[in-house]
Amino acid sequence: MVFIPLVLFALAFKFEPANTFPLFGKFIILDPGHGDDDPGSVYKDEYEKDYNLSFAKSLKNVLESYGATVILTREGDYDLSSDNAPSRKRSDFNNRIKLINEDKPDIYLSLHMNYLNDAKYYGSQVFYSLINTKNEHLASVIQSSLNTYFSFDKVPQKIGKDKYMYGRLEVPGVLIEYGFMSSAKDRANLKKEEYRYELSTVIADSLVSYFT
Ligand SMILES: [Zn+2]
Repeated sequence: MVFIPLVLFALAFKFEPANTFPLFGKFIILDPGHGDDDPGSVYKDEYEKDYNLSFAKSLKNVLESYGATVILTREGDYDLSSDNAPSRKRSDFNNRIKLINEDKPDIYLSLHMNYLNDAKYYGSQVFYSLINTKNEHLASVIQSSLNTYFSFDKVPQKIGKDKYMYGRLEVPGVLIEYGFMSSAKDRANLKKEEYRYELSTVIADSLVSYFT
């Protein structure tokens, strides 16, 4: 009789982490774009670099609550360029590429905002390069979750070879343009912690389906 509760306890222990921490054992690098002198897209006195960092922090919290191990390529308003680099932007890219390739996460997610002159465009779109064969599938899983939940009608887009960074990241991963700096709707939404949390949760859930 003594053994029954132990067996039940063992079963509960065995199954609980998978449900409670569906991303347990996964290592994810989040790469909030830009920083310091490089603001990314600009709308009046608002900078993409700040939106990126605040969204990355929200996504990190949600992914960690799902059991993933998460690091950010930057945790403040700085870039990753080496001192005295001839091209600061190129050096920033190179150091992000090096960090991600050397740390070998299960996936990376680069986080940026889009900008178009026509302010009517809003929503999140996923971009992928063909350097890793897993990228296209990852992009389509994330995009379809976003489309379903938020009623976006976007399709994942292939990144051309001209995009310096994404042709050099060897581990699986995608670029998520999670909103438009040019859209009043997206800027207003992304200023709200609840929206950032909602968007993060949809992305985290899509990663759970990707990994299972
Ligand atoms: Zn950007």
